[in-house]
Amino acid sequence: MPTAREHFLDWLRDAHAMEEQAIKMLETTASRIENYPDLKAGLERHLEETRRQSASIRSCIERLGGDTSVIKEWAMKLTGFAQGASGLFVTDEVVKAGLASYTFEHMEIASYRSLIAAAEALGEHQTADVCRGILAEEEAMAAWLAQQLPVVTQTFLQRAGMPNVTAKH
Ligand code: MG
Ligand code: FE
Repeated sequence: MPTAREHFLDWLRDAHAMEEQAIKMLETTASRIENYPDLKAGLERHLEETRRQSASIRSCIERLGGDTSVIKEWAMKLTGFAQGASGLFVTDEVVKAGLASYTFEHMEIASYRSLIAAAEALGEHQTADVCRGILAEEEAMAAWLAQQLPVVTQTFLQRAGMPNVTAKH
């Protein structure tokens, strides 16, 4: 039976794998967008935040004596939807990417809420504070995406109805 501390370290590794996945997704998505400058800029801004988040979680794991080399199978599966939905060959790519990003942020929010509770239960206040800081960034990104989604969707429909205009990205 894993100890509480082992579960906690495992969940931190999950979070680290999730952030690494987020970096890949944000890089791919942002680099493909050409006609939605606000969305592109927002994703690039969050990409920089996400790189810092990944490094922060890695520091927490190392400080607690864990290692970050274990590949987290389930985190990959969990992000499978997001990846699939951001498929590069769909005609409504930018809308799917918006949905995937929104979904991903909410998975991150859930993960950090759970991690904060675990950290507090174990008296790991420093890690709880790191997770609270990241949670605030994920919530801000989720709220921003909530505003962007309708705009992107309507812009996409407008562009899709115009001749000789690219709508999909
Ligand atoms: Mg994140
Ligand atoms: Fe995020």
